Amino acid sequence: MTRSGQEYLEGLRDGREVWLDGERVKDVTTHPAFRATAASFARLFDLAHDSPHAPALVQGGVHRAYAVPRAYEDLVARRGAYKVWAEASYGFLGRTPDYMASGAAGFAAVPEVFDTECFGGAENALAYHQRLAEGGLHCAFTLTNPAGESVRVVEDRADGIVVRGAKTIGTGAVFADEILVGTIEPLAAGDFDRALTFSLRVDTPGLKLISRVSYEGKSRSVFDQPLSSRYDENDALLVCDDVFVPWERVLTYRDPAATSAIWWDTPAYLNLVHQSATRFWTKLEFLTGLAVLIARSNGTDTLPAVTQAIGRLLGMVAQAKAFVLAAEASWEPVDGGRGGVRPGRDISFAQRIMAGELYPRAVQDIKLLAGGALVQTPASGRDLLHPELGGLVQQYFRTPGHPAEDRIKLLKLVWDALGSEFAGRHEQYERFYHGAPHVYLTMQTWAGAADHCEGLAQACLDGYDLGTVR
Ligand SMILES: Cc1cc2nc3c(=O)[nH]c(=O)nc-3n(C[C@H](O)[C@H](O)[C@H](O)COP(=O)(O)OP(=O)(O)OC[C@H]3O[C@@H](n4cnc5c(N)ncnc54)[C@H](O)[C@@H]3O)c2cc1C
Repeated sequence: MTRSGQEYLEGLRDGREVWLDGERVKDVTTHPAFRATAASFARLFDLAHDSPHAPALVQGGVHRAYAVPRAYEDLVARRGAYKVWAEASYGFLGRTPDYMASGAAGFAAVPEVFDTECFGGAENALAYHQRLAEGGLHCAFTLTNPAGESVRVVEDRADGIVVRGAKTIGTGAVFADEILVGTIEPLAAGDFDRALTFSLRVDTPGLKLISRVSYEGKSRSVFDQPLSSRYDENDALLVCDDVFVPWERVLTYRDPAATSAIWWDTPAYLNLVHQSATRFWTKLEFLTGLAVLIARSNGTDTLPAVTQAIGRLLGMVAQAKAFVLAAEASWEPVDGGRGGVRPGRDISFAQRIMAGELYPRAVQDIKLLAGGALVQTPASGRDLLHPELGGLVQQYFRTPGHPAEDRIKLLKLVWDALGSEFAGRHEQYERFYHGAPHVYLTMQTWAGAADHCEGLAQACLDGYDLGTVR
C-alpha cells in the first residue's frame, strides 16, 4: 500500500524554508500560493493508494516507476502508470513523483557507476533508491548551475560534508520530500569542489527555496484560471547556506567524471525521458482536444483549412505517441549484468529534439485557430454572476449552440493553457527542462546512427567513379 494524499500533505508540514515575495511561507499545504497545487500532487498519491487506477500504478506495494525494468513488458507497464498520472494534470505537472523515481531506478540498475577511485557511492545510491521506493517519496532535482555561485563543498567532516551555494530551477521542489542536488552537464576535469551529487530532505537546516512568482497565487478562481490555479508546480532557486550532508546521503564526491556519468552511464536519463515523453504525448492530446472544442465553438470546424489544421495537430499527437512506443520497442540491455533494460537511446534523445520544436508550433497553430476571442473574455466569472451585468454577458458572449457560460469557460481554459504567463512558462519548460538545445543536439550525435548514415552515403559514392562519365 502506498502513501495516501493526506499522508503526503502531512509530510510537507515539516518547517521547510520556502520564500515567496518577501514572505517566509509557513505551510505550503495551506498557503494560497501553493495549496491547490499541493492538493493536485496529493491526488496523485490517492490515485495510487486507493482508486480503480491503483493496479496500473502500483506493483508489490510500490509505484511502478521505482521498479528497475527487466524486460520490454516492464517498460510498457511503466508507461501505463506514467500515463495515468500525466492525465490527472492534463500533462501540466511535469515533475510528478514518478519522474525522479524513474531516475533513481536507473541508478539502481547500474550502481557500480557510483563506485570510483574518488568515492564509493554505490551502496548509497542503492539506499537512496530503496528509501524513495519504500517511502513512496517525492524527490525533485536541481542539476543546473546558476550564473552565480553554484553549490560546492566548503568543509569535509568525519561524518559528512558541508555545502554552500545555489542551484537553479528546482521544479516542484517546494512540494517534494527530498531534493537531489547534482550536475548533469560535464564539469571541467579539475572542478572537484562542485563535482558532487547528494540528496537532502527539504527541511534540512540551511536549505532555502526561493520561489518564482506563483501563478496559483495570482489566479482568481478555478473557473478563471483552471490550470494555473491548480497545476502550478513551481520553480525555486535552491540555496544551501552551509548545509550539512551526512556521508550516507552523498552519491558522488569530488569526482567530475562520475557526477555526470551517473546520468549517462546508467539508464537514469533515459528513464526520465520515458516518463516525460509520456507526459508530453498526454499534453499534446489535451491541447488538440482544446483545438477541436474551440473550432466547434467558433463555428469554423467544418472549414477545410480548419479541418486540416486539426489533422496536423492530430499528426503531432501521433508523433509524440510514436516516440514513446518506439523508444520502448528499441529497448537495449543494461550493461551491468543484472538483466535490466532501458528505452532505446537514439529515439529517446530524438524525442527531446522533436518535443522542443513541436510544442511551440502546436501552441501557435491552436492560437491561430482560436482567434481574438481568446483575449475578449470577461475579467472574471463574477461578471456572469452579477445581477445587473450577467444578462448582458449571457447575451453577447454566446454563439449558436454555445451558451455564454460554456464559451467563456472554454476560452479561459484555452488562454490559461496557451496565452497566460503560466502558458509562457510551459513553452520554456518544454524547450529547456532536459537541457538547452545545444546539449541535446550534441547528445544525439553520440547516440544517433551517424556511422550507419555515413556508411550508406559512402556506399553510394563508392558505387561509381569517373569511369561512368560519357
Ligand atoms: C521551466 C523550467 C523548469 C526547469 N526545471 C528544472 C529542474 O527541475 N531541475 C533542473 O536541474 N533544471 C531545470 N531546468 C533547467 C534546465 O535544465 C536549464 O534551463 C537548461 O539546462 C539550460 O540551462 P540554462 O538555462 O543555463 O541555459 P544555457 O545553457 O545558458 O543556454 C541558453 C541558451 O544560450 C545559448 N547557448 C549557451 N551555451 C551554448 C553553447 N555552448 N552552444 C550553443 N549555444 C549556447 C543557446 O541559445 C541556449 O539555448 C528547468 C528549466 C526551465 C525553463
